[in-house]
Amino acid sequence: MAIYANDPRRKSWINVPEHSDFPIQNIPFGVFLTRDDVITIGTRIGDTAIDLGAMHQLGYFRDIPLTEDIFLQDSLNDFISDGKKTWRLVRNRIAEVFDVNTPDLQENEAHKKIILFGLDEIEMQLPVQIGDYTDFYSSKEHATNVGSMFRDPENALLPNWLHLPVGYHGRSSSIIPSGTPVRRPNGQTLPQGADTPVFGPSKRVDFELEMAFVTTDANTLGEPIPIAEAEDYIFGLVLFNDWSARDIQKWEYVPLGPFLAKNFASSISPWIVTMDALEPFRTASPAQQPAPLPYLRQERPGSFDIHLEVDLIPDGSDATTICRSNFKYMYWTMAQQLAHHTVNGCKVNSGDMMGSGTISGPTPDSYGSMLELAWAGKKPLTLEGGQTRTFIEDGDTVVFRGFCEKNGLRIGFGEVSSRLLPALPL
Ligand code: CA
Repeated sequence: MAIYANDPRRKSWINVPEHSDFPIQNIPFGVFLTRDDVITIGTRIGDTAIDLGAMHQLGYFRDIPLTEDIFLQDSLNDFISDGKKTWRLVRNRIAEVFDVNTPDLQENEAHKKIILFGLDEIEMQLPVQIGDYTDFYSSKEHATNVGSMFRDPENALLPNWLHLPVGYHGRSSSIIPSGTPVRRPNGQTLPQGADTPVFGPSKRVDFELEMAFVTTDANTLGEPIPIAEAEDYIFGLVLFNDWSARDIQKWEYVPLGPFLAKNFASSISPWIVTMDALEPFRTASPAQQPAPLPYLRQERPGSFDIHLEVDLIPDGSDATTICRSNFKYMYWTMAQQLAHHTVNGCKVNSGDMMGSGTISGPTPDSYGSMLELAWAGKKPLTLEGGQTRTFIEDGDTVVFRGFCEKNGLRIGFGEVSSRLLPALPL
């Protein structure tokens, strides 16, 4: 089925500001609370939020097989379970309704009052109920940088890294939407030169520039997803700030990997941009040498050209863009991650979230964490206004932005923004 929603010539009767991440070709999905305290599933064009629950009740999806309450829910999980064909039908229909050449809703003032909201009239929620969250470690530059700092520059990559997408199971309960403040965690750390740990606020709170993909029900327990089908089970992507406490991490991570250093907060952008909307920006991932095992070989280009930026904003100060990276730098693709995740028969459900791992590029200004940008505290960053930073300080706000741009078409994710609060008193 064609993706009519992607037609780059299409114009909407809803105003789309210049450089908006949300032209009519985007049509992301999210969940919001309306001014009437109703939770609904919606989409967005320009700076207008669109209530899909109300649209469905008013008959705008009548030719698509959908249950009556599919959009009147507090999560996208059931809609995502309906599968790729339904996602595509719904996006195509939304594109048609909001096309400048379609009069139906455009000329129905009563319906517009019910369906359309300004962004200041809504409050974005988590878009899915996240059952399981997995975090990968798929940027070669990031793994090399961290391996150099934490272990040995000569053997920065461990022997498994070039053969499989390394990952671990994270904690879905602490994934929060953009705008929710994050509390500096208390925990155990081993001070430099000491041989017994101390307890207190982490001194090395960091962000990790990641993206995460959201899956649909993909397989039954015991059955793998072949790599050629893997993308069919990916609904879309969000920006993902995987907050990390480096000093806690360094002490606790041997031998089972990340634990309390990683599970205190992960912040996501609220609109899920679909794989269909990203299709025009598909691109090759880095060449893989050695060639992966056959179950990880992907025939078509498996990455997407998504510009990523990180702003750091100290309390009461101006923003400084401290990192510019790109999703296409990832060594392992999403399809490879999902094929690997399920090759042992592990079941994946609707609403599961898979983090890419920190996305670092080849140059020092493209590193996706403070750990790398300030090289474990050795090279402090100077911000606009003269302040310096090695890690994130109380009151700092970290903002990620992500967007694709090609031939005058821009599809973006908006932002994920979160402010770090001081630790709770001991
Ligand atoms: Ca991570």
